[in-house]
Amino acid sequence: MEVAEFQSLIRRLYMEKDRKRGEDATLLWLVEEVGELLEAHRKRRREGIEEEIADVIAWVTSYANLAGIDVEEALRKKYPGRCRYCNSVPCECEK
Ligand SMILES: [Mg+2]
Ligand SMILES: [Zn+2]
Repeated sequence: MEVAEFQSLIRRLYMEKDRKRGEDATLLWLVEEVGELLEAHRKRRREGIEEEIADVIAWVTSYANLAGIDVEEALRKKYPGRCRYCNSVPCECEK
């Protein structure tokens, strides 16, 4: 699935609920999901980690929909296929 396709799916599934909840509460949910990912990671539960990664990405996408951000465009700008600083693949920056 393409990023834009996923964002469109999340919009179709949840935009109404996301709007009612609002940006602030949606970001709080995202933080909660990151907490769940940390918990799954600590338990070394692969299935749980997989689920929580999906949840984190879904909630980021809900927030992006509310904020009017095109996730695919944001990714392309920030991660243009090479390191933005040293221009290399893989990154050869010191840190
Ligand atoms: Mg979760
Ligand atoms: Zn670099």
